[in-house]
Order: sequence, then C-alpha cells, then structure tokens
Amino acid sequence: MKLYNTLTRKKEDFKPIEDSVVKIYTCGPTVYQYASIGNFRAYLFMDSLRRVLKSNGYKLQHVMNITDVGHLVSDADEGEDKMEKSAREQQKSPLEIAEYYTAIFMRDIDRLNIDKPEMIVKATDNIPEMIEFVEKLLEKGYAYETSDGIYFDISKFEGYGKLSRMNFEEQQAGARVEVNEEKRHPADFALWKKSQKGRLQEWESPWGMGYPGWHIECSAMGLKYLGERFDIHTGGVDHIPIHHENEIAQTEALLGKPAVNIWMHNEFLLVDGGKMSKSLGNCYTLDDLEARGYSPLCYRYFVLNAHYRSKLNFTFEGMEAAKKSLSKLVSAVKSHKDAPGEVDAKILDEFRNEFYQAVNDDLNIPKALGVVWNMARYSVKSDKIYRLILETDKILGLDLHLDAEVQPEVPSDLDPDVEARVRARHEARKAKNFAEADRIRNELKQEGIVLEDMPNGVKVTVDGRSHVVEFG
Ligand code: AMP
Ligand code: ZN
Repeated sequence: MKLYNTLTRKKEDFKPIEDSVVKIYTCGPTVYQYASIGNFRAYLFMDSLRRVLKSNGYKLQHVMNITDVGHLVSDADEGEDKMEKSAREQQKSPLEIAEYYTAIFMRDIDRLNIDKPEMIVKATDNIPEMIEFVEKLLEKGYAYETSDGIYFDISKFEGYGKLSRMNFEEQQAGARVEVNEEKRHPADFALWKKSQKGRLQEWESPWGMGYPGWHIECSAMGLKYLGERFDIHTGGVDHIPIHHENEIAQTEALLGKPAVNIWMHNEFLLVDGGKMSKSLGNCYTLDDLEARGYSPLCYRYFVLNAHYRSKLNFTFEGMEAAKKSLSKLVSAVKSHKDAPGEVDAKILDEFRNEFYQAVNDDLNIPKALGVVWNMARYSVKSDKIYRLILETDKILGLDLHLDAEVQPEVPSDLDPDVEARVRARHEARKAKNFAEADRIRNELKQEGIVLEDMPNGVKVTVDGRSHVVEFG
C-alpha cells in the first residue's frame, strides 16, 4: 500500500510502526457553526483512508479532536475566538454552541456513511495536558511570555517551515498592519492566551486565567492519546502552512524527534470555481443539498469521483450528474443480484485485483469506482459479480445494495403550511407590502423558524434542518 506524504512530497510504501495497529490523528471540526460540504470533503478523505487500511487487515487506533476553544478567526492568532464569537452572536454559552454543532456534525457524519474514529476527544477536556505541554516548552527555552500570552519562538526550532517548505527567516515584521510588537518574529504563535475582560471560556494556569492556542490542542492530544510516535496525521491543505507547521514545531521541540511518520492532506472543495464564503451564500451544508433533492450519499458519490489530492469543483450541475450516475450504478448493480450467469474465476480475480490495486495506490478511489462500473456493466449478469461489488462497497460505502428508487431521492419534508406562509411573505414583498412580509417573518420566528433570503428563494431552517423554497 502506498500513501503520499506531504512532508517528503512522495508516495511512500506504507509500513506501520507496530505490526497490526495503525495510529492516526485527524484534525477535527471547530464546532461554532454548521460544517460545510467543504469540511465534509476532509472527513470523506479520512473515511476512505480508514476503510482502505482496514481492508488491508490493519486495526486502527484513530483520534479526532473536536475544537471547542481557542481557534481564532484567523488561523494565525488574530481576531476573536470563533467559539466565543458565535456564542455572543447567538446569545448562548460556548458550551451550548459546542454541544449543538457537535451533535449536528455527528449526525451528518453518519448520514454520509463516514466510518468514525475510535476516539473523538474534546479540547476542553484536555486543558491540563496543554498547560503542561506549554510549561515544558518554556522550561526548554522554546517559548516566551508577553503581556498577552505565551508564544512559541520559531527561531529556536531549526526545522520550522519544513512541511510547507517556506522560508520564514526572510519574512519580516511589519508586513501586516496588526503586528503584535512583543512578538519576536511575526510567525511566532500563541501557545496560551491570557484572558481579556469578558472572556467566556477560561482556565486557571501558571500565567493567570487564560485559554489555549489552537495548535497546542492537537499536539497535546496527539501525544496523550497516541504516544510519542504515530503513523499518520491528516487534515485539509489549508492546515499545511500554519496549523501543522506549528504542531510539528511544538511537538518536535518537546520530544526532540518527530512524532508523525506520514502527513496526509486533502485538497479543497471549490464552489462554482471559487472559495466558499458566507457572504456569497455558497457555504452549503448537507441540509442545503438535501433541501434541493440531493441525498448525503449523492454528495459522497460526487466526492469519491475525484482523487483526494485534486481540487474538486462543486456545482449543482455536477450534483445532478452525480445523482443520475449513482442511480444508474445502483440499478446496474441490482441487475446482477441473484442472476444465474457464470463468470470465469479469472475474470473476477482481475476485477478484484484492479480494484484493490487502485485503492492501495494512494487511495485512488476514482479509479476503483471505474472498476466497479465495469463490473456493474459486465455483459453476463451474475450473482458472483453482485457479491464482489458488495465487497468493494465496504470501501466505497455507497450502500450499493439499497434500491435505486429509495436511495437518492430525498423528498423535502418542510411542513406545507410553513411553505405556504413563506410563499405568502414572498408575494407580499413583491407587492411591496413590507409590513405584511415582516409580520409573517416574525410570526415564523416566534415558532423557531428562521428565514434566510437567497438569490432565487429562501432558506428555511426548522429544528436545525434547512429547506430551500425556490421562487419561479
Ligand atoms: P475547521 O472546522 O475549519 O477546522 O475545518 C475542518 C476541516 O475541513 C479541516 O481539515 C479543513 O482543512 C477542512 N476544510 C475546510 N474547508 C475545506 C474545503 N473547502 N475543502 C476541503 N476541506 C476543507
Ligand atoms: Zn489540528
């Protein structure tokens, strides 16, 4: 089995540190809002990795964290803490925010058939370990204290920049407007932040009340749950230049040696060729897709058609094509069920080998999917092919055994009365009767139903589930 290592920029033969157990760490979600379909691309990649490792006979010891503190609006220590900001905006406590979005994240993970890590751990349950980690870095001279926190001194760590292959020595302070003057180098990053007035989440520490930096979270939890050396660390490509560079610096400074054998990163999901953003209204969630008739498994199929290291462009045309293809594939697979045709064992072996060679070649799932299509379309209809396809579906996770009619169609279950009122509000607005339009909106709001206007319709959120009502 070969896996691509971001650190060496090479595909490497995979050999676990211990014979039968593979230890993995995955950077999990920051639970301050609904996870987007972009975020789920990262967890679908994690899922493929898990399934392929398991098919090679490995047991997994896999940790994923839930970031419920310390991730600032910018990955590089600037702006407000995402959790605190969301809590303030929604007038809830950070704990309530974290619990709510974690529950929805876990629900969505299940709906996507994502195979879950053995251990899912919260940052806020591991604060003492983080404090201890920071204390040790201070003792070893890798960190320094300023008036607002404890910072890592990147000049003390020789390998800084080795993952992203960036040269930080040349980077000068002053390039950005908001440079923290007490920092020795602009890329020095916070290990611990001292609380400012009005802070909602804070803990006692040797440096007074405060909270951990985001990067230390993953270093401390990786060490605690997986030990000083583990096999694979995953995340999205955006983590390479800051978050993972910083994790490497902290952990290697502490241990005096690398902790991770293989760094793996998934490429980004784009929407309509660009970045997803709230302001463009294209940060779609799984519910948004479902409201338009695309099931989570359609999205899974869409994502599996691209290699995890290629950028993938999301469009609704693409989703429509994925939906049709998946439906056709399920029907083609079904045509083999209980079919009496005889297929040579050699042909079955060839299909099987081609499939496993593809997935073992740095998770080439698109190619493996092509093999499944060839099997499904095979001229002789045979139950042997059906059974082989179901075996391969342990890696694809597309529920190919379910009925085509049942699987990709997801009817919108928005209450017709709510939909009628949403449409009445639209008509009122068109007639410039804004008082009536506002009255309807407020009435819905009092029932806990939230409306968000979109270019061609309205997103209606009821009990955390979104539906789109489109206007012709
Ligand atoms: P966050 O909750 O922001 O920490 O992100 C969770 C995971 O989603 C991380 O591994 C990110 O790298 C990944 N991610 C964020 N946006 C995208 C995207 N558009 N495409 C693929 N992965 C993403
Ligand atoms: Zn992380």
